[in-house]
Amino acid sequence: MYEYACPECGVKFEKLRRMSEADSPARCACCGAENASRVLSTFAAGGCGPGRNFG
Ligand SMILES: [Zn+2]
Repeated sequence: MYEYACPECGVKFEKLRRMSEADSPARCACCGAENASRVLSTFAAGGCGPGRNFG
């Protein structure tokens, strides 16, 4: 699992990706932006609507 932060809505989310893809931009699980970038900080549960029904 890798962690990403979305520059559009600010949410952080986890995503399971291949190591070779880890540093590529990810799709935001919240707003769908394609340019979420990988972050190395510990995962902090953020708000993205009730329930956080990601993936
Ligand atoms: Zn987003």
